[in-house]
Amino acid sequence: MTNFELYNPTNYIFGKGQIAKLSELIPANSKILLAYGGGSIFKNGVYDQVKAALSSVEMVEFGGIEPNPRFETLMKAVEIIRNEKINFILAVGGGSVIDGVKFISGAVNFEGDAIEILKKRVLFKDISKVIPFGTVLTLPATGSEMNSGAVVTIEASQEKLTLGGSALFPKFSICDPTVVASLPKRQLENGVVDAFTHVMEQYLTYPHDALLQDRIAESILQTLIEIGPEVVQHPSDYKLASNFMWCATMALNGLIQKGVPSDWATHMIGHELTALYEIDHARTLAIIGPNLYRAMFETKKEKLAQYGERVWNVEGNSIEEKATQAIEKTVEFLHKMGMETKLSNYTTDYEKASDFIVNRFEERGWKAMGEKQNITLEKVRQIVEMSY
Ligand code: NAP
Ligand code: FE
Repeated sequence: MTNFELYNPTNYIFGKGQIAKLSELIPANSKILLAYGGGSIFKNGVYDQVKAALSSVEMVEFGGIEPNPRFETLMKAVEIIRNEKINFILAVGGGSVIDGVKFISGAVNFEGDAIEILKKRVLFKDISKVIPFGTVLTLPATGSEMNSGAVVTIEASQEKLTLGGSALFPKFSICDPTVVASLPKRQLENGVVDAFTHVMEQYLTYPHDALLQDRIAESILQTLIEIGPEVVQHPSDYKLASNFMWCATMALNGLIQKGVPSDWATHMIGHELTALYEIDHARTLAIIGPNLYRAMFETKKEKLAQYGERVWNVEGNSIEEKATQAIEKTVEFLHKMGMETKLSNYTTDYEKASDFIVNRFEERGWKAMGEKQNITLEKVRQIVEMSY
């Protein structure tokens, strides 16, 4: 195992009825910004629960944070916080609202042009310089409720970029699985596949000696495979919803990443497909993931074979056979989860994708990625073109 530090200060509060605890969690004398998205919280009762719990707290509301949150929108909230002397933010929503709030939290006291946070990938480490925030999660998928990363889109330049740092963990996250009941089918499918791919990014590399890490990762994958198709059919089933929610958090709260190599190229390439075509985040991962495993077969085949044996019970005669079957099983699962796995299923304008992505990566100085830094720009081109 490689050396690691495990730091996660988020107070994670899970279960039915937990939104009522909000008043105990928000620091006394707070003036809060209640940040939310396009209004789903008004339809499913989450807003009413939040308001009831915070009836005596001074509050300004900021709605309209869009899926794939935009820098341009978030800067409006930054202005409000500065003008209204707000000292705590409550994010009520999915990954987009929570990620947006992480950006807002860092941007309020940022010296200089806030766009640099994204362009230069500023890391926020000083807790005294950010606005503290908590979350009420409404969509299990990203793990953003218990990690310190975020992804924000700059509309003007069509770029989707990341930010983060240890100061950007939520103070608390309330995760009530009953919110899953109101999710549209497409978002349920997306959530399962995003969480599944988060595990794959940190697991599907090469064999190493972090034995427990592999077993934890495999158990999250197995659980998602077991409950994923079911929760899409029965989102009000508490057993399914609660396991789904906990899997999504565990997939990206930092635990399975410790002591092991990780890849993340599927996400890096996928972000460009969202920036270019506005394809849902999870759906870009379903397009790229399997092709990346195929293109990087030589370096990933041993781990693919282990994954095939342990997660899918494949029985091949060789590493190559098991690894190939593992990729096939993964694609079958993605299809079962309602994913299309080709870019051409989403757009007729797909041929510009590989040039666009390779040029973008070149501009940013990203020459190689993946756990062995052997996903070169030529490989990126190949992976994208395999998805046509
Ligand atoms: P999302 O973009 O937050 O939400 C998608 C849609 O679901 C929105 O239209 C939202 O509506 C709706 N919704 C949310 N909760 C609902 C509920 N309980 N009932 C009904 N509708 C609901 O989706 P997401 O998948 O959670 O987040 C995706 C973003 O996270 C992407 O930008 C992705 O790149 C990023 N991401 C972040 C991380 C990380 O570690 N930080 C990891 C992976 C991905 P409203 O807007 O009306 O609420
Ligand atoms: Fe993701």
